[in-house]
Amino acid sequence: MSEFTFTLLGQDGAARRGCITTAHGTAQTPAFMAVGTAGTVKAMTADQVRATGSEIVLGNTYHLMLRPGADRVAALGGLHRMMDWPGIILTDSGGFQVMSLAKLRKLDEIGVTFRSHIDGSAHHLTPESSTAIQHKLDATITMAFDECTPFPATPAEAAASMRLSMRWAARSRAAFTPRPGYGQFGIVQGGTYPDLRAESAAALTALGFEGYAIGGLAVGEGQAAMFETLDFTTPLLPATSPRYLMGVGTPDDLLGAIERGIDMFDCVMPTRAGRTGRAYTSRGVFNLRNARFADDATPLDPACTCTLCTRHSAAYLHHLFRCEEMLGPMLLTGHNLTYYQALMHGARKAIEQRRFADYAAAARDGWRQTND
Ligand SMILES: [Zn+2]
Repeated sequence: MSEFTFTLLGQDGAARRGCITTAHGTAQTPAFMAVGTAGTVKAMTADQVRATGSEIVLGNTYHLMLRPGADRVAALGGLHRMMDWPGIILTDSGGFQVMSLAKLRKLDEIGVTFRSHIDGSAHHLTPESSTAIQHKLDATITMAFDECTPFPATPAEAAASMRLSMRWAARSRAAFTPRPGYGQFGIVQGGTYPDLRAESAAALTALGFEGYAIGGLAVGEGQAAMFETLDFTTPLLPATSPRYLMGVGTPDDLLGAIERGIDMFDCVMPTRAGRTGRAYTSRGVFNLRNARFADDATPLDPACTCTLCTRHSAAYLHHLFRCEEMLGPMLLTGHNLTYYQALMHGARKAIEQRRFADYAAAARDGWRQTND
């Protein structure tokens, strides 16, 4: 079985072109990972997700531990087998969802006690149990258990939260069972404060993870503050490991973060928007429920290769959303993911050819064509 490796194939300024090799195949970076919260990328079959060009799918520890349960997933052959995704799966640690979804949370040094948002049942998550659950799910990439620092946070609040997450990172690392081709990522916290991000990066690199995530961004600080935080955080991370910006973002966020040395992304935006009628295209963002699409016989995005754009008119998609037909979200989710993956494919080519700035400028020019 292969080792977990990250190979840097090219660089253009701070932008990186790489390849991650794992026990479940390879992924080209910069990579956008499709979010498959409950063991499914909503509205898509695994074959359809593959057809968009996605090479990594996310699973969610919090959701899967509640339903169907980690032991049940393990008994069904693991998450890969259960969801027909033999490729790379990254699972988040559950920390973020406990904070955003669960009821009656109680956080202490040991971990978090909470009640399920589904049935009110009591649960406990710790660095050790989160790591064990991700092992049972058979995650290719396990995330360290952390506390996503709320925004806004004072320097003192951000420091206390980050230091707790660093103690939890050490416990997560100790609880991780090394296996060939599997890896675990630590998560840098520290809000928008350079000294705290530096302290966090130093603590994590001392533990020696297979990759490093930047957490606690895209929580309301705005794009300028996020980019500024990346500017001083990514140089602190080892050049030889993949860097993952969690929960980001819009197509423009992705290009800006790639420009600053980020290799991996995940975000619910393309899939969630696909279910509500919002389309990401080379000409900007469109709301397909808008009446102006009622008679539009042209493809949604003539530049796109997805089923929707090659086989149907924008007017048909508008009709499907107006009638609340489930094919609407299915087709548009497929389109949005295809668009995100095409954007990443183009970014990888541009970095190889050392013309990433021109590529990003051309993409941004295209988005300005819309006024939705
Ligand atoms: Zn399309």
